[in-house]
Amino acid sequence: MELIPYHDKTIMVLGEYDTVVIGGGLAGTSAAISAARGKNSTLIVEKQIALGGTATNALVSPMMPSYVKHEQNFHEIEEALKKYQADTREEVTGYIWFNKETMARALEDIYIRYDGEILYDATLVDIILEQQIIKAVVLVTMEGLVAVRGRQFIDATGDAILTRLAGINVTSGDEDGNNQMSSLRFEMAGIDVGKYREYCLSLKDEFSPLINGYYFESAMVKGKSFKLEPIFEKGVKDGILKEEDLRYYQCFSLPSKEGCMTFNCPHIGSLKNNTSALARSKAIVEGRQMISRLVTFLKGYMPGFERAYLSNEASMLGIRESYRLVGKYVLTEEDYINRARFEDAIAKGDWYIDVHSASKGLVHKDKFIKGEYYEIPYRSLVNELVKNLITVGRCISTTFLMQASIRIQPTVIDMGDAAGRACVYGKEKNIELTDINGAHLK
Ligand SMILES: Cc1cc2nc3c(=O)[nH]c(=O)nc-3n(C[C@H](O)[C@H](O)[C@H](O)COP(=O)(O)OP(=O)(O)OC[C@H]3O[C@@H](n4cnc5c(N)ncnc54)[C@H](O)[C@@H]3O)c2cc1C
Repeated sequence: MELIPYHDKTIMVLGEYDTVVIGGGLAGTSAAISAARGKNSTLIVEKQIALGGTATNALVSPMMPSYVKHEQNFHEIEEALKKYQADTREEVTGYIWFNKETMARALEDIYIRYDGEILYDATLVDIILEQQIIKAVVLVTMEGLVAVRGRQFIDATGDAILTRLAGINVTSGDEDGNNQMSSLRFEMAGIDVGKYREYCLSLKDEFSPLINGYYFESAMVKGKSFKLEPIFEKGVKDGILKEEDLRYYQCFSLPSKEGCMTFNCPHIGSLKNNTSALARSKAIVEGRQMISRLVTFLKGYMPGFERAYLSNEASMLGIRESYRLVGKYVLTEEDYINRARFEDAIAKGDWYIDVHSASKGLVHKDKFIKGEYYEIPYRSLVNELVKNLITVGRCISTTFLMQASIRIQPTVIDMGDAAGRACVYGKEKNIELTDINGAHLK
């Protein structure tokens, strides 16, 4: 067993890999799949015990529609999902529907098939950096502090944790420093979805395009003329709900889970700055209280929910946006408007600028027509300071507004795909990640 000095002690080296990916969310797992497929020895370090990050542990589904040409990992993930659940698509919304367990299983299956390794229940806490090169990461595991050496590192933590530990510039929030709204999601079971749908349709609620079929979506945002608003207002009047519970309500059906729906709420409006650890914890407590009120309200007031119950609460706070890398190129809303093209493009995005603002409500920019897209350059994933690091996922180098477009699941999967391929290319050509010309990754 190798030991290395660390401050005033020595710590065990758990292993050495070509590519070490910190964070096993969709971006990190996709990066690791590409790296492992290209025969780089690859380790994912994940602090929870399932891959998928926000998509699994924060209970975020379905995948938003994206009509661009996707990379291999996106298709492999959809194929693997299909193996375990009846269906991933209906023809109306273009969403990719999945449930948390199926996604976690699908990601693990694909990655392990390429001989990738995973270290679960391990949290990145520090790095060993020498002359602009990360030599090792320091992790807390059940064995205490351990080190993992690597040739290349990928920060897929969503919160740019590795990037910040490396001393690289980051930014966060909008011009007032406010982050996007965070949510603590939950699932309910025992719902008579047919009855609920009938009720929504009887109100002429035209929000959901899914009039028929297995899948259904429903929503209410206070002050936006949603047909469900009066029933929620009654809940407030009767003291079951509080005003803040009406800020945003949305639910989706779940494949292979009849009678279950997943809730894209509550929005925790008090959490304006989610880069504070204490504030995040308080928000979780508040979110749980909001869930409890919503569940009581739905059971008591909403047709179809009479026998429903809370079946799952997220084990991770849903963070839409926090720290973002300030990389070689900062992708902006002008790039969105101009449908920007880049020599070193590594992924395409077509989701609209969809800000759930903690201070300004919902902020949206015009949607693209199907077929339109902007490109994301490789330079938005790399920095000027540390040579063997790529930052990937929702924390790449963008403005606040642009982040609200690139953050959706299909896009972070494609970015991860490219990041993993960059690692394979870098190893093959013996070049550092920041020195790669992204045009060569196409
Ligand atoms: C409430 C909400 C609703 C959304 N709705 C949709 C939607 O309907 N459709 C859609 O397509 N997109 C949606 N999104 C956006 C999308 O889900 C996320 O942007 C995307 O999944 C982020 O993926 P990621 O891999 O970049 O980060 P994450 O999924 O956050 O993954 C980061 C991973 O890193 C791990 N990690 C963090 N720190 C450490 C550490 N120190 N050590 C080890 N591991 C660590 C975490 O445990 C996690 O697994 C939503 C997001 C939220 C929050």
